[in-house]
Amino acid sequence: MKKRELIIIGAGAAGMMAAAAAAKNGVSVLIMEKMEKAGRKIRITGKGRCNITNTKDWNEFSTHIHPNPSFFKHPFYSFSNKDTIAFFESIGLQCTVERGDRVYPESQLATDVVEKLTGHLKSAGVEIRYNSAVRDIVQESGIIKQVVYENGGKIFKEDADAVIIATGGLSYPSTGSDGDGYKFAEKLGISLKDCHPSLTALKPDFDYIPLKWLILKNVGLSLFVGKDMVQHEMGELEFTDNGLEGSIGYKVSRRAVRALINREKVSLVLDLKPAVDKASLSSRLLKDMETDKNIRRLLRHYMPEQLVETFISAIPGRFSSLTTPDVRIADEIASFMKEWKMDIKDYTSYERAVITAGGIALDEIVAKKMVSRKYPNLFFAGEVIDLDGDTGGYNLQIAFSTGYTAGREASYLIRKLKDSSSE
Ligand SMILES: Cc1cc2nc3c(=O)[nH]c(=O)nc-3n(C[C@H](O)[C@H](O)[C@H](O)COP(=O)(O)OP(=O)(O)OC[C@H]3O[C@@H](n4cnc5c(N)ncnc54)[C@H](O)[C@@H]3O)c2cc1C
Repeated sequence: MKKRELIIIGAGAAGMMAAAAAAKNGVSVLIMEKMEKAGRKIRITGKGRCNITNTKDWNEFSTHIHPNPSFFKHPFYSFSNKDTIAFFESIGLQCTVERGDRVYPESQLATDVVEKLTGHLKSAGVEIRYNSAVRDIVQESGIIKQVVYENGGKIFKEDADAVIIATGGLSYPSTGSDGDGYKFAEKLGISLKDCHPSLTALKPDFDYIPLKWLILKNVGLSLFVGKDMVQHEMGELEFTDNGLEGSIGYKVSRRAVRALINREKVSLVLDLKPAVDKASLSSRLLKDMETDKNIRRLLRHYMPEQLVETFISAIPGRFSSLTTPDVRIADEIASFMKEWKMDIKDYTSYERAVITAGGIALDEIVAKKMVSRKYPNLFFAGEVIDLDGDTGGYNLQIAFSTGYTAGREASYLIRKLKDSSSE
């Protein structure tokens, strides 16, 4: 059998984009995919609509990248959000920009993204070998030589001139990404930054189940670790059967989860009325008490009905109805609306976390080429590396930019090797 020039491990967003970039430069590419289909994770992105990227310019875009946006600058400039849109439109997937500069396929179907990508790869001569789980990457004297994989219970070996690890992280393991890339890296002596779930639900210490599917819009949320406020966000908070989610719940989850893992005390302070100060809120409440002395009914003018019982039971004082307007109670309620403190006891793990924070350490990789510093013919792309973004299309752009850069650079290396062997 003809030796493959480039083997890519993983047919996710990063692996497929890497394959497209390498095939464009005339390299023969084989993708090994352990699942029965490509892009299992892409199919569930953006609630089935796939938020492909975000049109913000680098200055704003970079504020949504963690932990080191300057590392990502190189791959982003090699293949930017604009390049992503142009690429997808060139392969027949029209895109549309929505609220928050988020880009989606015009068809609103994540499956179309996968179908267009796999169709493009097929026409570019890329082979995707399904149900093929890579078990080992073999090196000799610091050069990657071979990939060992399992298919149908049998072990096979495939030689390659270069290999790209695009195996994803640990989140949603049912889609195929269950941490194999980290095992390969460890065996090759490549260091990792500790992984943890991110963009995930935080579990407060009260019964949040009655609040399931409640969405609070335009609220403020402050994250406290110990006594220090470390992050403040404004936007949408959602209660689900897993706890607190929504855009701002997810935004604070990265630091909150890390602090919980470090056994630090984590709490959130919710501001239900960020546009009004406490004194004005208190005098408005006091005035309303003149016409309605039933607190539950009165609160329905200030918050969704679904929230009222949980809100009242969270306030230390007990009051359900009044005989007369009460300044102390108005103050107490106003304070609680402005600063509802929730202790966070736990978080949802990888089974439903959108992203994995941590991964292949950035100082193991040359950002301009996405190549390993230890192995000149080993490349990395996508969620497997220690880069993650907020919600809004940033994570797929990380996969596309790093995938494209790795694929392009692997193809340059392969061409160079070919040229030197024919001299
Ligand atoms: C529910 C959900 C919604 C999301 N929505 C969005 C969104 O709208 N916009 C956005 O930007 N981001 C979104 N994300 C994040 C985004 O999907 C990921 O960051 C991105 O898909 C990562 O791409 P990847 O190619 O690095 O990894 P993956 O997509 O995880 O692909 C890795 C591939 O490698 C394969 N693989 C793993 N190990 C092996 C092995 N040993 N041998 C062979 N194959 C292997 C896996 O089967 C998988 O196909 C979402 C994530 C989730 C979970």
